[in-house]
Amino acid sequence: MAGKVTLVGAGPGDPGLMTVKGLRALRDAEVVVYDRLVSPAVLALIPAGARRIDVGKQAGRHPVPQHRINQILLEEARAGHSVVRLKGGDPFVFGRGGEELETLAQAGAAFEEVPGVTSAVAAAAYAGIPVTHRRCASSLHIITGHAREGAALDIDFEALVRAGGTLVFLMGVTALPVIVRELLAAGMDGRTPAAMVENGTLPSQRRCGAALEDLPARAAEMGIRSPALIIVGEVCALAQRLCWFEGLPLCGKRVLVTRPEDRAGTLSEKLRALGADVTEFPCIRTEAILPCPAMESALERLGAGMWLGFTSAAGVEAFWTCLRGMGRDARTLGGVKLAAVGPAAGKALEACGLAADLIPEVYDAAHMGAALAKEAAGKVLLLRAEEGSPALTDALAAAGADFEDIPVYRTLYDNPCSVRLREELEAGEFDYVTFTSASTVKGFVSAVGADADFRRVVGLCIGEQTAGEARKYGIPVRVAEKAAIDALVKLAEE
Ligand code: SAH
Repeated sequence: MAGKVTLVGAGPGDPGLMTVKGLRALRDAEVVVYDRLVSPAVLALIPAGARRIDVGKQAGRHPVPQHRINQILLEEARAGHSVVRLKGGDPFVFGRGGEELETLAQAGAAFEEVPGVTSAVAAAAYAGIPVTHRRCASSLHIITGHAREGAALDIDFEALVRAGGTLVFLMGVTALPVIVRELLAAGMDGRTPAAMVENGTLPSQRRCGAALEDLPARAAEMGIRSPALIIVGEVCALAQRLCWFEGLPLCGKRVLVTRPEDRAGTLSEKLRALGADVTEFPCIRTEAILPCPAMESALERLGAGMWLGFTSAAGVEAFWTCLRGMGRDARTLGGVKLAAVGPAAGKALEACGLAADLIPEVYDAAHMGAALAKEAAGKVLLLRAEEGSPALTDALAAAGADFEDIPVYRTLYDNPCSVRLREELEAGEFDYVTFTSASTVKGFVSAVGADADFRRVVGLCIGEQTAGEARKYGIPVRVAEKAAIDALVKLAEE
C-alpha cells in the first residue's frame, strides 16, 4: 500500500495546544519525523510502537539538512508507511513546511497538512498579550528576524512602522539590537511598549517587558534566549493586567513524578494544569506474576459470599488478565464481593465493569483490613503485591478472619542510576518529588543513591507509610490528608 505524509503542527509547546486532528494523526503514525522545537511533552504523545526520526539539532551536531529531510519523508512514504512530520507551532509559519510538501508533490507522493497553533499568537497569549485589540492594534505582522549569514535583515522597517500594527518577530533573539535600532531609525517611538516571551506556553516561560528602546538591555539582563518572540506594540502594555499563566499556583515549580510509566498520566496532567514543570522519572515497574497457579486455583474455588481484596490497580489488572486467560469473565464473580483500598483500585475495577462493594474511609492497608474484618463473613482473598503491607494481614488475623494472601504482581526496581538527577536534586533544582507508594521511594532512592543529600527537595507522600519510608533517607516530607491523587496534588499548593 502507498504511504502518506501528514505534516502536523505540534503547537508552541504546551501539549494541550495540539489540535484534535493532529493528535489523531500522531496516534496512527508508524513513523514520526520531528525537530528541535517540538516539546518533550508533545513527543511523549508519540505512540510507543512508532519509529522516531529526530532531524533537529542535537548537542554539538548540526541539524539534518533540509534536502535530506525532504528525502527521508519521500523514502518513508514510498516504503508504504504512514508518516507524521511533526513541526513546532504551525508548519507553514516560518516552518519550511511548504518546501517539504513541494518535494512530495513533485514526486507524486500523498500528503496532507494539519495546521497548528503558531507560537506567534500563542506564546503572546500565554504572556497576557492579545496580538490585536480594538483600541490599539488593527493589524498583526509576523516577521522573521533571521538573516542569512553575513547578510543584513531584509525587512522594510519604514513600512512596518507606518502600518502601526502589532509586530511579532520570530527567530529574532540574535538580531534584537539591530531590529530595535532599525525600528527607531524608521521613526518608531522609543517608549512604545515591547516584550519578549521565552519558551512560551511551557512551564519555563519567561516574559520580559520594557519600552522598545530599553528592550535589548532588559533582555540581556534576564538572559533571554531562543526560542523567544519579540513583540512590539501598544498591546504589550496589557500584559500587566492579562498575564494569567505566570499566576498559576505551581508556576515556576519543578516536580519530579516517580510513578510507574503507565500510571504517571493523571498525576502529571493535574500538576501541569496548575502550571508545574513536570519531569517524569518512573522509578518502579510492576509486573503481573503470570501464570499464577495460586490465583488460578483460588479463582476456581470462588463462591458466593467470598471477598476479593485489591490494594492497587496493578493487582486488579493481574487478576483480570488471569481470569480472562482462564477463559472466564465477570460472570464468574456472581455473588463474590469486592474490596478496594482506594479510588485508584476502584477505578481499575470499574474499567472491568465491576463496582467495589467496599472502599475504606481512610485509604490504607490498616483501615482496609479493619473494614474487611468487620464486613466480610466469608473467606477473603487478597490479590496484591509480593511484598504487601503486613498492616492488612495483621488486621485480618487479629479479627480471626479466614483469609488467603496471594501475591499476583511484583515490583521491579530496574531503573538505571542517574548521576545527573542526583546533581540536580542536590542543587535544589526540584521543588517536589511525588511518592505514591513506599516502593516509589525505594525505587527513587536506589536510582539517585541512598547517600544523596535530599534536604533541598520536599517529598509529597500519599500516606504515612510512604512518608515513613522517605524519612528513613532524610527526605523532608508532606503527607496527603487522604491517600488519593487530588490530595497529593494539593500538597504542592501549600
Ligand atoms: N512554525 C513555528 C515557528 C518556527 S520559527 C511556529 O508557528 O511557531 C522558530 C521561531 O519560533 C523561534 O525562533 C521563536 O521565535 C519562535 N518560537 C517557537 N516556539 C516558541 C515558543 N514556545 N516560545 C517563544 N517563541 C517560540
